[in-house]
Amino acid sequence: MRHPQLQTRRQHLQCCGGAIAAGLFSGLLPQATQEAQAGSLINPCRGQLPAALHEHPMLARNWQDLTPADLWDVHTHLLGTGDAGTGCRINAQMTQWWHPVESLRRQVILKGACVPASAPSVDIAYVQRLLQLSQDFPIGARWLLYAFDEARDAQGQARPEWTTFHVPDAYAAETSRLHSHRFAWVASIHPYREDALARLDAAIAGGALALKWLPSAMNIDLRAPHLRPFYARLAEAKLPLIIHCGEEKAVPGAGRDDLGNPLLARAPLAAGVRVIMAHCASLGEALDLDMKRPRLVPAFDLFTRLMDEPAHRELLLGDVSALFQFNRRPEVWQQVLSRQDWHARLLHGSDYPLPGVGPLYRLKGLVRAGLLDAAHMRVLEALREHNPLLFDFHLKRLVSWRGQVLRSEVFATRQHFEKKPKVASLAPSGSATRHSAQQTPA
Ligand SMILES: [Zn+2]
Repeated sequence: MRHPQLQTRRQHLQCCGGAIAAGLFSGLLPQATQEAQAGSLINPCRGQLPAALHEHPMLARNWQDLTPADLWDVHTHLLGTGDAGTGCRINAQMTQWWHPVESLRRQVILKGACVPASAPSVDIAYVQRLLQLSQDFPIGARWLLYAFDEARDAQGQARPEWTTFHVPDAYAAETSRLHSHRFAWVASIHPYREDALARLDAAIAGGALALKWLPSAMNIDLRAPHLRPFYARLAEAKLPLIIHCGEEKAVPGAGRDDLGNPLLARAPLAAGVRVIMAHCASLGEALDLDMKRPRLVPAFDLFTRLMDEPAHRELLLGDVSALFQFNRRPEVWQQVLSRQDWHARLLHGSDYPLPGVGPLYRLKGLVRAGLLDAAHMRVLEALREHNPLLFDFHLKRLVSWRGQVLRSEVFATRQHFEKKPKVASLAPSGSATRHSAQQTPA
C-alpha cells in the first residue's frame, strides 16, 4: 500500500506540474502548459550583470571561503539539434506541433538556455550562452558537460524512438577541448553496446572525467551480470559513474522507472566503482527491495540508506543539482543541510539549463520552509534574470536549516575527479554555520 503522505505528494505534483522538474528529461503537465502560455516560463535572458549585482556584498561573501579553481559544476547538460554538424539529435516528437507537450518541452528548455527561435544554429547558440554565463564566474571555475547516449533494448539495438536527446561523446569532448579553460566533459556509453568497452577506453584516453547513465530512460539494468567487465574497467580507471536515480517522469523512452531504483547502485558499488548519484535521488518513489514485501518509499530514503552503509563510505557520492527546486520535500532539504557528515561526499552541480526554466525554483517556498531569509529573495531573483548559473550557486550558498549550511567542501568538487580522489572524512565534523548572520560583510 502506498504511504498516505506520498499519495498526497503525488497528487500535489500532478496538479502543480511538478514533474517538469524531475530532470531535464521530465514531462510537462497541463499546469506547466498554462504557465507557459501565461508567459511565466520565460527566461528574460538579460545580458551582463549590472555592477550593483556584481559587487553586491552579500554575494561577495558567498565566495569568501572558496577557491574558484576547485569549483567544478558536475552536472551541466550539453544539448543540440545537430544543426551545426555536431551529431546531436532530439526526438522528432519534440519538434512536431501535433505532439504539443513534447514540442512545448523543447521550447521551454531552449528558452531556459536562452536559445532564440531565430538562432541560425541551436547548437552554437547553446554553447555561446553557456560560455557567456561562465564569464561572470571567477577564473578557474569549470563546468562538466554531459554527453548522452541513446537508449538500447536488451539485445543492444539502438531505439531512437525511446531516445529523448542524443549528445555524442565526440561533441562533448570537442566542445570541452575548444574551451578547456571553462569546460571538461563526461562521457555517456550504453553498456549494452557491442563496442561498449572499446568506447569506454576511448573516452578514458580522451580525457572524460566521468561516465553518465540515466538507467530508466536508457534501459540499463545496473544488476545485469554482463556489466561486470564494464564495472571492472571503471573501477580500474577510477572513473566515477554518475547515475540518475529516482523518478524521471514522462521519459518518452524506455520508461523503466524501476531501473532508477537507488538500491540497484549496490551492483557497481560492490564492484568497486565510485558512484555519484544525481540529485541525491531526491525525487519520486522506488520499491524498498530490502523489505520482505517491497513497498514504495521515497527514493531519497534509499539514497540515505546507501550513504549510511559503511561499505559505501568511500565510493558513494551525491550531487546537489536540482535539490532546491520547488518539487522536493522540505524533509529532503532539511536532511541534506543537517547531515554535515555527508558534505564531504556531496558535490555542487546545477543541472543547467534547468536553473533558467521559470517555475522550477520558487523562492517563496524556500522562505516558507524556513530555509531562506526573505531579505535575500530580491537579489536572487534579479541575479536569475541575468545569470541562472550564478543564481543557482548563490542560492545553494544561502540556504540554511537551523544555522546549518552546505559546507564549503560541497563546492570544492575538483578533488573528486583527480587521479587520487580524496576520501571522505568519516569523523563526525562540527556543524558549519558559515556566513549569513555569523560573518562580517566583505
Ligand atoms: Zn540532469
